[in-house]
Amino acid sequence: FVREDIRNIAIIAHVDHGKTTLVDGLLRQSGTFRSNENVAERVMDSNDLERERGITILAKNTAINYKSIKINVVDTPGHADFGGEVERVLKMVDSVLLIVDASEGPMPQTRFVLKKALALALKPIVVINKIDRPDSRIPEVIDEIIDLFIDLGADDDQLDFPIIYASAKAGFAKYNMDDEGKDLTPLFETIINKVEPPSGSLDGPLQFLITTIEYDEYIGRVAVGKIFRGSIRYGQSAVLCKRDGSVQNVKIGRFYGFIGLKRIEINEASIGDIIAIPGIDDINIGETLCDVQNPDPLPLIEVEEPTISMTFMVNNSPFAGREGDYVTSRHLRARLMKELETNVALRVLETDSPDAFEVYGRGELHLSILIETMRREGYEFQVSKPTVILKEINGEICEPIENLFVEVPQDYLGVVMEKLGARRAEMLNMHTTNDSYLKVEFKIPTRGLIGYRSQFLTDTKGNGIMHHLFMGFEPHKGEVPERNRGALVAFEAGETTTYGLYNVQDRGELFVGAGIEVYEGMIVGESAKSDDLDVNVCKKKHVSNMRASGSDEALKLSPHIEMSLEECLEFIAGDELVEITPKSIRLRKKVLD
Ligand code: GDP
Repeated sequence: FVREDIRNIAIIAHVDHGKTTLVDGLLRQSGTFRSNENVAERVMDSNDLERERGITILAKNTAINYKSIKINVVDTPGHADFGGEVERVLKMVDSVLLIVDASEGPMPQTRFVLKKALALALKPIVVINKIDRPDSRIPEVIDEIIDLFIDLGADDDQLDFPIIYASAKAGFAKYNMDDEGKDLTPLFETIINKVEPPSGSLDGPLQFLITTIEYDEYIGRVAVGKIFRGSIRYGQSAVLCKRDGSVQNVKIGRFYGFIGLKRIEINEASIGDIIAIPGIDDINIGETLCDVQNPDPLPLIEVEEPTISMTFMVNNSPFAGREGDYVTSRHLRARLMKELETNVALRVLETDSPDAFEVYGRGELHLSILIETMRREGYEFQVSKPTVILKEINGEICEPIENLFVEVPQDYLGVVMEKLGARRAEMLNMHTTNDSYLKVEFKIPTRGLIGYRSQFLTDTKGNGIMHHLFMGFEPHKGEVPERNRGALVAFEAGETTTYGLYNVQDRGELFVGAGIEVYEGMIVGESAKSDDLDVNVCKKKHVSNMRASGSDEALKLSPHIEMSLEECLEFIAGDELVEITPKSIRLRKKVLD
C-alpha cells in the first residue's frame, strides 16, 4: 500500500542559510495558514541559544499541504553531540532537503547529518538558496557539494541529485538559472515527484516507532513518531514493546496529527503518518507501539553512550542567587529529573552529597547547552570541570576517542597543529579547499578536546570551524599521567582576568582551587568574589567554583595544562608560595587549612 498523499522529508541546513524563510514561504504559498492566522510568525525559528551557537538543538515538525498531498518537514539537529537524535529523525523520512547558501557553500557543521542521511540511502534534493546575493558563486558551490557527497561516500544515484535554485527571501525557486522565478512551485513539484511516498502494509499489525519524546507541563510525556505498519484508532488497545524486552498494555487515548505548525486532534492514522501520542507515561525513544496479538517491535534505535561527566552542585556561597533564582538542591534535582524525560543521552547519578549530582552527557557541548539553558531559566549552581568517562573493556581501561575536523585559513594552521599535538591529536589527512582554507582531519582522545573550542576560536581569530564526531572507546595509551590532572581556568571580567587552578587528585578526592586577578600581566588582586576566597582548599568531591568572578559570559577554560599541582601553584602564586601539603596551601601572608 502506497500513501500517495504523504511525503516525509528532513531538512538539513546550516544556520542562516535560509531554512526558516524557505519553510515560511512554502507554508504561505500552500495556504496551510488560514487567512486569520499570523503568517509572519516565524516557522522553525531558532531559539536564542541555537542562534548564538550556530546549530539547531531541537528537532521540530511542520506539515505543509500541497495539492492534497501532506508534506511533513522534519528539522534535524545540527551537531554530532546529538547524533542519535539525527538518526532517529532520519528514520522517519524518505529524502532530505539540503539547503546551501549560494555564497557560503556547504558548511562542515552539516557534514555529520549528511553523512548519516547518505548512509541510510536517502537521496537528497539540493536547494541552492540566496541566488540573489551579488557574491553568489553557484558553479563552485555545486562542485563543493559534489566533492562533499563523494567524500561522505555517496553512491552514483545519490550524486545524481536534483538541484533547485532559490531565493527564499524573494519567494521563488527555479529548475534552471535561466528560468524566470515566479514562486516556489518548482520546489513543491520536485518534492512531490522525487521523494518516494511511504509504503508498506496497511492491514498488517500496528508498528509505531517512537522517535522523539516531548514533555508538556500539563499532559506529561508526548511520544512523537511514525507509523511503519498498520493503522491506529482512538480508544484501541495496543502494547508497548519496551527497551528491556518487556511488553506493557496500553489504551490509546487522544492523539494528534500536524498541520502547519499546529497539532490537531485526529481519530485515525495509518502507515506513513507522523503523529504525537500523549498519555503513555512510561514510553521511551526507540520503543515500538504494537498490535496486541502480534507484538512485533522494530529494531531498537540505539541511544548513544555518554562520554563526558560533570558535577552539578548547589552553590553554597552566601553570594549565590538573586531574588527569584532557583538555588536549592530540591530545585536542581527536580530540573535535572525533568530534563531526563526528553534528553535521552543524558544520565544523572546521585552522589554522597544531597547537594551534588553527577551528570553524564554526549559531549562538552551537550552538557554546556543544558547548563546554559538552566542558567537562563534562573537556576544558579556550580559545575565542575568536565572529565571523560573511562570504561573497562576486556580488562583494559578505555577512553572515548573522537574524529575532529577543522577548517582554517592557512596562516593559522601552525598554531592549530601545535595546540592539537599537545592534546595528543593524530592527523589523518589534510586538503586545501578552493578558497585557501585547509581542511584537516584528526583522531583525538575526547579528553584532548575538553576546553579546546574556545582556544581554537581565539587562535584562529574566529576564522576557523571545528567539528567532531565520537568514534568509539579505545585503550588508554599508558597511565593517566599525574601531570595531566591540573587545569588552569581563566575568568575574564572586564579588563581583568582571574586565573584559577583546578587539580583533581585521585579522581576527585581532593580539590584545590586558587584564584588571583591579573591585569596586563600583573597581579592586581585576589579572587574577585570575596576577600577570603583567594586561595581555598576544600575536600568536597569534584567541586569547583566556575563562577569565582561572577562573570558567566567570559568563562574560559584553558587547555589542560600539563603541570603538577606544585608547578601550577608556583605559576599562579609565584613568590607568594611557601609550602603545599595535600591539605593546605601556605602563602607568604597566611595559612589556609
Ligand atoms: P535559518 O537560520 O536557516 O532558518 O535562516 P533564516 O531563514 O532565518 O535566514 C537567515 C537570513 O538570511 C535572514 O536574514 C534572511 O532574511 C536571509 N535570507 C534567507 N533567504 C534569503 C535569500 O534567498 N536571499 C537573501 N539575500 N537572503 C536570504
